[in-house]
Amino acid sequence: MKSSEKIINVALNVPVNELFDYLSNGEDIQIGQYVKVPFGRRNLIGIVYSFASSSKVEKNKLKKISYIDSEVLFDKRLLKLLSFVSSYYHYPIGQTIMSVVPARIKQDKSHINRIELLIQPTETLTQEVINALPKRQVRLRKLAQKLLEGPIRQSNVSKTISSPLPLIKVLEKANLCTTLEWQLKSDSLSAEAIPKLNSEQEIVISKILNHNGYKAWLVHGVTGSGKTEIYLNLIEKLLKKNLQSLILVPEINLTPQLESRFIRRFYDKKIVVLHSFLSDRERLKHWQQAKSGEADIVIGTRLAIFTPIKDLGLIIVDEEHDASFKQQEGLRYHARDVALVRGKELNIPVVMGTATPSLESWLNTKQTVEKFDYLRLTKRAISEAKLPSIKLIPYAKDKYSTRLSQELLKAIEERIKKRQQVLIFINRRGYAPVLVCTSCGWTPKCHRCSAKLVYHRQQNKLRCHHCDHQQVMISQCPDCGNLDLLPLGKGTQRLEDELENYFPKASILRVDRDTMRSKKALNDLYTKVNEGDVDILVGTQILSKGHDFKNLSLVIILEIDHALYSTNFRSTERIFSQLTQVSGRSGRALIEGDVLIQTNFPNHPIFHYLKNHDFSGYADLLLEERKQMNLIPYSYMAILTVQAKAFSCVEEFIDKAIAEIGKIKTEVNFFGPVRPTLERLKGFERVQIIFQSNDRNDLHRFLGQWMNAIQNLTEIKRVKFSLDVDPIDF
Ligand SMILES: [Zn+2]
Ligand SMILES: [Zn+2]
Repeated sequence: MKSSEKIINVALNVPVNELFDYLSNGEDIQIGQYVKVPFGRRNLIGIVYSFASSSKVEKNKLKKISYIDSEVLFDKRLLKLLSFVSSYYHYPIGQTIMSVVPARIKQDKSHINRIELLIQPTETLTQEVINALPKRQVRLRKLAQKLLEGPIRQSNVSKTISSPLPLIKVLEKANLCTTLEWQLKSDSLSAEAIPKLNSEQEIVISKILNHNGYKAWLVHGVTGSGKTEIYLNLIEKLLKKNLQSLILVPEINLTPQLESRFIRRFYDKKIVVLHSFLSDRERLKHWQQAKSGEADIVIGTRLAIFTPIKDLGLIIVDEEHDASFKQQEGLRYHARDVALVRGKELNIPVVMGTATPSLESWLNTKQTVEKFDYLRLTKRAISEAKLPSIKLIPYAKDKYSTRLSQELLKAIEERIKKRQQVLIFINRRGYAPVLVCTSCGWTPKCHRCSAKLVYHRQQNKLRCHHCDHQQVMISQCPDCGNLDLLPLGKGTQRLEDELENYFPKASILRVDRDTMRSKKALNDLYTKVNEGDVDILVGTQILSKGHDFKNLSLVIILEIDHALYSTNFRSTERIFSQLTQVSGRSGRALIEGDVLIQTNFPNHPIFHYLKNHDFSGYADLLLEERKQMNLIPYSYMAILTVQAKAFSCVEEFIDKAIAEIGKIKTEVNFFGPVRPTLERLKGFERVQIIFQSNDRNDLHRFLGQWMNAIQNLTEIKRVKFSLDVDPIDF
């Protein structure tokens, strides 16, 4: 078949689950290339997905592809993975593929210089020569002048002269400069002293390395058991075989620390990071370095699982239990689950590390699951370091009192005296979560969400933590005119204020989403803490993971009671893991660590297991509960959320959508319509239908048919909807 006769199936960022047919423009074309095509009145960027010999559309009505880029973005294996992801999460194929294409390519700005040049002046370049250059060539003269001072990196030229490459070429042709590829000099870096492995770590490493091909390894190790050291050893072996490794981390705040540890160990290797704090330009550059094979090690957050990597030999999922691996909008994938599919497809090992496995993985360790293996680390890597002792502290009797109890204050003071650090964990930012009128009980609510506004004292504002609506603080109750408005409860800001009163000489650092807005802020935090510039850290869950603070000996956990009795059945699993993680920050080196938890429910079973550092016991208890209630991981679920500004639009659509369920012969159960906890969000009324089945294939067969049926309903035009497969939030 001549290429001019081929029908080209292109994936486009369009919300229908189909490919679009085009004719070739005569040029050679390959699967995975990115192209531009006419679509309606616009030109869209798409990816060549497949070829066909015929089309549903008449051949004379088919349009030609208008532009073909020479670069193949995705190979067939990655396209196969994306196709699986599209069908598993019931998300349109074109949107699935386009949601993992780097932003700059989608904006059609992909042509960055992949190689950076070092420009060196030749001896011919003199002031006289520059003076003789044409006067009109201002930029050329400027560049030549700069070069006269000495060699310069291309990126530094670009800061003052825009698109300098053609100018550099002109000078090079005139023999006024030479260019060579600029490379990071590694001699200034020193290799990290490699810690000696303990016997448990050695066993884990040799088991993984002695197995060929795909296997999912769950490395379950107590906090501080040296999981990172295991990753480093595995990667080292891969590097010797010239294979690349991909490490997925749950959140951006873990990457700077991990990155620097990797750079210290593999100082002569190319390490790239992929996360949302990067500029689109950097992101594309790193993506291309992964794809070309130039990057030896790729560290990234969830989206990195879709990065094309030339010779991928190992995938590591650090903190596999972490909820941030689940994307909560658009393509709602779970990066850990996609990692397993990708590893299987490439026939390479996937190593999942955690101190608190997800119940899904925990159940896999109990059942004989093919190609799934469980490895345990029971000791802390530094042999003298012990797990911290955990103690429960009751609240003060006066229930409106938000003050820290005497016992807590005394404990903090003791540590400050010893020049040790304290971490206070409170999973709530702002000053106070609720403001209440002491006379009539009125509280300010967001007009766009069914949520209360949070008081932020520094800005003197009330803010919604769901839609980020902000308004000036009020001085008077709008209902009864009372001037006495009482902030109830405590957030990070209030705690910081209070601590400043008690410990005026201490250096206190608040760490939450309001203070940690950039990668730099995170880096600074880590440096400050490790250099001993901080006495007390106050923070949200940002602080609970990964950070290795060697001088930290006391962790205090506040305000967790509400999470113990949440409506989300996953809440206790999550809180246990969070408490384990945050407790694990304490006493990691040679100082003994203590953890104090303030609670009104000391008899809740979670504390019994937490105090005994008994994850297995608690996980088994939770699994038993889930089994009795037939919940995840014993059954499979999906949630359809429908939203619109007018509730009537939602209602009309939901009625029709439920009627369509009845037309399909299926064993799948459904519940609904139900209103989610946040009934209204960002001005949209929301309604859900929840699906549940004991058979994963049944559920997907049903969802496939039903999603097709509801896409054809006319009412769908007036609503927004999303399907969440394997949901984690309810
Ligand atoms: Zn009032
Ligand atoms: Zn809101």
